[in-house]
Amino acid sequence: MKITKLTTYRLPPRWMFLKVETDEGITGWGEPVIEGRARSVEAAVHELSEYVVGKDPARINDIWQVLYRGGFYRGGPILMSAIAGIDQALWDIKGKALGAPVYQLLGGLVRDRIKAYSWVGGDRPAEVIDGIRMLQQIGFDTFKLNGCEEMGTIDTSRKVDAAVAVVAEIREAFGDSIEFGLDFHGRVAAPMAKVLIHELEPFRPLFIEEPVLAEQSEHYARLAAQTHIPLAAGERMFSRFDFKRVFAEGGISILQPDLSHAGGITECVKIAGMAEAYDVALAPHCPLGPLALASCLAVDFVSRNAVFQEQSMGIHYNQGAELFDYVLNKDDFKIDGGYFYPSDKPGLGVEVDEELVIARSKDAPDWRNPIWRLHDGTVAEW
Ligand SMILES: [Mg+2]
Repeated sequence: MKITKLTTYRLPPRWMFLKVETDEGITGWGEPVIEGRARSVEAAVHELSEYVVGKDPARINDIWQVLYRGGFYRGGPILMSAIAGIDQALWDIKGKALGAPVYQLLGGLVRDRIKAYSWVGGDRPAEVIDGIRMLQQIGFDTFKLNGCEEMGTIDTSRKVDAAVAVVAEIREAFGDSIEFGLDFHGRVAAPMAKVLIHELEPFRPLFIEEPVLAEQSEHYARLAAQTHIPLAAGERMFSRFDFKRVFAEGGISILQPDLSHAGGITECVKIAGMAEAYDVALAPHCPLGPLALASCLAVDFVSRNAVFQEQSMGIHYNQGAELFDYVLNKDDFKIDGGYFYPSDKPGLGVEVDEELVIARSKDAPDWRNPIWRLHDGTVAEW
């Protein structure tokens, strides 16, 4: 079998699908994207396609190494997201060629189901109580919300109190009937992270995500030393070589590689294995579309240390399309009692509604995150 063609479709809400065709009629799909820079990743996919077209799609390991090492310069969000989507599509082709789901090709199930969690609220953590009530009705008991709004390097006790008040309200409303993680979203610098984590501890969040930015990862071990709340990070790390520093320095209890950013299934299975060796839990990051999610699930179902799976249903970013809009076999991904179950469909198990993908890609918006500024006019982390 030979790879003949790579086609990209930028799609609402902020996604990109990749179709990889072969001379034997088997087609694989992947989702190479970095949110807000889809066109850059698209250019990278097409630039890399010269190393892919004409190759045997069965040789995923070799193609991955050529894409990673073959260009001298490597790593980072754009190149690793391009590789991720190509890698996902190659696993999809392999599964379809062999008539087996990807998790079977990776050694088979290590669990029967995986807990899903859901985002509540938007960019700003207000009005979450109603959101949680609604999601509880469809079976969710685990949530994530933004832990605070924009925060200065040193900020006021008013700002801290506002963040704490939202979390206190949630605990008061729901007691221990729910769990929730708090995403600091890289908005908080180390001095305020120390304060905020301390103030939030009494409300027992399940984890605190990106307590500081990944480029300040030397603070993870220091912050972990001051708190018993598990710290999570990983969506802005792009390969084993980024993650190894976090393992070596310690501090992260829940690792969140993104299957569409960190080199795809081939790389993330290895990252998951490294995490297991360090007794670190795995919770793949996934605020994206169905092919990214299916890739996450393939890794969750073969990784003992996977604890829960993010998914984007109803997320505030999903303007213009929802998680399963482009999927024909929606029922295979139905969340039952707050859990995802393995599908026995071959490959990634996603039957893509190609007609709809082509139609919607014609007017795809260029999604951007907002630019926030602090009260004195300096740019804030979003
Ligand atoms: Mg996050």
